[in-house]
Amino acid sequence: MQVHVFLRRAVVAAAIFGAAQVSAQAMPLRADTATTRTAQAFETARQQGPLALHAFLAEMPKGADLHNHLSGAVYAESWIAQAAADGLCVDVATLSLLDKHDASAPGCGNGRRPAADALSDQHFYDALVDAFSMRSFVPFAGHSGHDQFFDTFGRFQAVTPQQHMGDWLDEVSARAAVQNEQYLELMATPPFAHARELARTLDWQPDFDAMRKQLLARGLKDDMAADEQLLTQALAERKRRQRCGTAQADAGCAVQIRFLYQVLRGAPPARVFAQTLLGFELASADPRWVGINFVMPEDGYLSMRDYSLQMHMLDYLHHLYPKVHVSLHAGELAPGLVPPDGLRFHIREAVEIGHAERIGHGVDVMYEDHPEQLLQEMAARHVMVEINLTSNDVILGVRGADHPLPIYLKHGVPVALSTDDEGVSRIDLTHEYVRAAEDFDLDYSTLKQMARNSLTYSFLPGESLWATQACQGQPPGNHPSASCRQLLSASEKAAAQWELERRLRAFEEAH
Ligand SMILES: [Zn+2]
Repeated sequence: MQVHVFLRRAVVAAAIFGAAQVSAQAMPLRADTATTRTAQAFETARQQGPLALHAFLAEMPKGADLHNHLSGAVYAESWIAQAAADGLCVDVATLSLLDKHDASAPGCGNGRRPAADALSDQHFYDALVDAFSMRSFVPFAGHSGHDQFFDTFGRFQAVTPQQHMGDWLDEVSARAAVQNEQYLELMATPPFAHARELARTLDWQPDFDAMRKQLLARGLKDDMAADEQLLTQALAERKRRQRCGTAQADAGCAVQIRFLYQVLRGAPPARVFAQTLLGFELASADPRWVGINFVMPEDGYLSMRDYSLQMHMLDYLHHLYPKVHVSLHAGELAPGLVPPDGLRFHIREAVEIGHAERIGHGVDVMYEDHPEQLLQEMAARHVMVEINLTSNDVILGVRGADHPLPIYLKHGVPVALSTDDEGVSRIDLTHEYVRAAEDFDLDYSTLKQMARNSLTYSFLPGESLWATQACQGQPPGNHPSASCRQLLSASEKAAAQWELERRLRAFEEAH
């Protein structure tokens, strides 16, 4: 048994290093004593169990969390506090927050309670925490984990980004800092009321050029100024709360943040097209938005019906805005959730038509047509898969031997761990590292490679540290050579990678 496990780990490690060419060619393979000692400390922690593993992995430098929906990352306790502060009401039957407009009656009206009541009524507080998350959830007839997961978003959405996005950024970056993360690529949907209204009044025609011209002519970009303003205000509020730039700066200040524009895929074609166009325009104009992603349940009626059409929209817009990065939720499906035909092509089309540089989830890969060939193609194209283990378990019921993580590793497809919705799932990135180590027998070097991948495949601008010779062979630290310094000042990505190497070295030397 032990031999078997060891061999399996060796195969996985060989595959990951063999294929992630960006790392293998330039990485100074320092099999030095600190690295060896750290790998041994990891194995010792593994033998001691999940608590020891957690303590080890909490401190391990993890690079980035690349698959993180901002609203799903906020914990239920924060929603309650913010709803109470804003004077919002709760619909008692559905445990949903109501916006102020719906809750203007004194005392909130019949069947409603002030959210602030939760602060002095523990049962009400507990019920809201459960309603806003997966805590205490047990599936029952007609209501699965998938349903509970996606229903939570509607229950807390009355707390608005205009009021609280700065609080959310403070919360997620503070949590990331504690876990030795340094970069977050947060998915968010800024208000798009104007684009939505335009799409409603426009007759859909599958002529993308004509649709784009009409949308732009009728003022599609009118939402952009407000969206840019929203980010500016939220980032300023986060900075204020964390006292960034002062002697008392919180650790969260060191966590870099960029955004991915979320398109809501479960909508009619005209609206999806309008919002996708708005996302490409916004990401072209404002460097804080580094790319776009499609969200909402992939198994929904419109998401399934229009999947290929939506990939062709991306193909069309990618050619007009080639610098805007694309990551796509694809293959967040499982047998039984949709008919077998629905499992056959989403990842492939995301890569081959939608220009996805990264795939979110990719759970159903082995049910796609010609999966071996697809895996080889993903490895050859360096399409990274964002792995969300807890999310896949609670939404899809996919875990352990049913999860394709070891298959991606075996085929040399780059992977990194991410949280998806850490607030709804009530987890953090460390939890996902522990889970990966336990469920798949991953060793230290594989986890370390995943942390490196999270920055290599991030959408930070600039050349990768591993793609040039500039810093090769240098001990990461404060005194890089002139050519290395030049790379680090020209490339935000390389600078972040260099910082990760510095943190890894410090972590390993402490063992
Ligand atoms: Zn997601």
